[in-house]
Amino acid sequence: MRLQKFLASSGIASRRKSEDFIKEGIVKVNGEVITEMGYKVDPEKDEITIRDKIVNIKEKYIYVLLNKPTGYITTASDQFNRKKVTDLVKLPYRLFPVGRLDYNTSGLLLLTNDGELTFKLTHPKFKVEKTYIAKVEGKPSEEEKKAFENGLRIEDYVTSPAKLKIIKEEQQNSIIEVKIREGKNRQVRKMCEAIGHPVISLKRVAMGEIKLGKLPLSEWRYLNIEELQYLK
Ligand code: URA
Repeated sequence: MRLQKFLASSGIASRRKSEDFIKEGIVKVNGEVITEMGYKVDPEKDEITIRDKIVNIKEKYIYVLLNKPTGYITTASDQFNRKKVTDLVKLPYRLFPVGRLDYNTSGLLLLTNDGELTFKLTHPKFKVEKTYIAKVEGKPSEEEKKAFENGLRIEDYVTSPAKLKIIKEEQQNSIIEVKIREGKNRQVRKMCEAIGHPVISLKRVAMGEIKLGKLPLSEWRYLNIEELQYLK
């Protein structure tokens, strides 16, 4: 199969765009840059990459895990023209974030073009547990931890049971781990505020069994097979 046809049929880009990638010298076959149009590849045997990321012809959907830095929005755009998380994942796909992270929150964000999975992971019915590490003002007491776990009244709703664990105490602040199964707007910030310990910084480190691990800030990687099997 011709290289540009392979790229186009993998769903990674249009035929024209695939040719541009080849001309740009970002396409490799078995580790070698190929700029020759019409180069023949064997999809079963050859490893074809774009910017060193493997392209798989059978994979219609793309699943990416990004370590979101603060200062990026997860929505498609906003009135202030702020930077978007999708700008950090330079792939020729229309990917959508699975749920949201605030502009000032960092950490694990999944992006995909699989609408079914997005639906499943964000629907309250499935109650996927999300783990956050937060730096908060002061130190939550046992009573405040209990209140957090029993449910807090926030605006017009009461939160479902959540978990709060103190990881480290600093002079004026604490580092805490928070686990919630809901995903209301700014929920962790509002919950911490409600027990009198406003959030100074917030980072998501896990969604269910999917972990951020040591992925550097602003970098992304594809989900691996085990992670995909777990999600689906
Ligand atoms: N809770 C928050 O308050 N902010 C986030 O970005 C995610 C959860």
